[in-house]
Amino acid sequence: MDPSTLVISTAMAATIMAASMFLLHRASPRERCLLDWSLAGLAFLASNGLALGAIHHRLPFLLVPGLANVFYISGHYLILAGVRRHLGRRPRFDWLALLALSLLAIHTTNYAHGPVNQRLVMLAPAIIVINASVVWLLARRTDPAMRSCYLPLMLVEAVFMLQQAARTIVMAQDQPSQLTFIGAQWVQTTGSLAVLAFLSLATMCCALIVMRRQELALHSAALTDALTGWHNRRALQEAAEPAFQRHRRSGAALHMLMFDIDHFKPINDQYGHAAGDAAIRHVADVAAQALRGYDARFRIGGEEFAVLIAGSSPQHALQVGERLRGQIETAALQLNDRSLTLTVSVGLSACMRDDQHWEDALRRADQALYYAKRHGRNRVRLHEEELNQPPAALVA
Ligand code: GH3
Ligand code: MG
Ligand code: MG
Repeated sequence: MDPSTLVISTAMAATIMAASMFLLHRASPRERCLLDWSLAGLAFLASNGLALGAIHHRLPFLLVPGLANVFYISGHYLILAGVRRHLGRRPRFDWLALLALSLLAIHTTNYAHGPVNQRLVMLAPAIIVINASVVWLLARRTDPAMRSCYLPLMLVEAVFMLQQAARTIVMAQDQPSQLTFIGAQWVQTTGSLAVLAFLSLATMCCALIVMRRQELALHSAALTDALTGWHNRRALQEAAEPAFQRHRRSGAALHMLMFDIDHFKPINDQYGHAAGDAAIRHVADVAAQALRGYDARFRIGGEEFAVLIAGSSPQHALQVGERLRGQIETAALQLNDRSLTLTVSVGLSACMRDDQHWEDALRRADQALYYAKRHGRNRVRLHEEELNQPPAALVA
């Protein structure tokens, strides 16, 4: 194939990568990995720009292939840097600087001035290591919600790495060869086409990763209560249904626990809404400590909370409720120079054989809570239906 056409096509793919990653970053400035990937596109573009210049003009060796190779390998490294940043690691631009300087230094040696395939064989390990690092980093992630979105980039990097390794073996066996820096020989043509395909596909894969993470973040925000960081009522609906179905299939116990801050209104009235918010946060924090190990906790109303307790006996569920009540009572809230003792009333209910829906149990927990309120507050109450039944009936 005509070398100019290949270089221009690759430059266009690099431009699309740089521009699309940059524009996506404008839309989502917190996704800083997009900037790394935009820089990767620019590095590939610079490499191809220099290559195009070399087709038409005689350029110094340190510029082409020297700087062109530095930009090319930097492009691969910047994809890795973006992946590192996406995974919460430092992108390590110091390693990139070291790599770039080493590559330039290598281009001043006599060895680098040798046949083209000798030079390509020399540079290939760096590219292979970078590609392999991307695959390795992503393969170690176990988050099931993101994993499927990492697979395309892992596949693209792995296939590129394999073709790079295969071409390197062919070139290593083909010495001395007639290769020119940018030629029409099949080794260069397939290599250029591989880069073209790599850039186009990697752009889509990177965009996919960011979009998936944003979708998950949005979903998580929609299910999270901003004041306490607990899950909200909508999340309870999403979590309770599968828990209820599991309970029906396996017969394992499932308890609904509800609690509500006692005499909360006066706090709002006396100290203001901000103090009321601080009280809600305080109770949620102490409750989270008391419930350690029980993840399914929800703020379902102003100062009303619910907890799903799976696989515990009624006695143990009562102990959990009692521990929660006791710890909240003893952990005073410091409000300016005052110390405020808060208490909660707790209602408990088990899912039972006749329940058609988890909300049946929640309604009973609410009744038990109401009962606790009427009988003096700051107490735990198991729904009376359960108190009147033998323990076996509690498990469907
Ligand atoms: P009881 O012991 O019977 O529970 O009495 P209470 O005063 O706690 O009464 P209730 O549970 O009805 O009080 C709920 C109040 O909580 C009403 C509302 O003004 C307030 N509230 C609801 N959401 C918020 C919130 O997000 N922040 C604050 N500061 N107050 C809230
Ligand atoms: Mg209340
Ligand atoms: Mg209330």
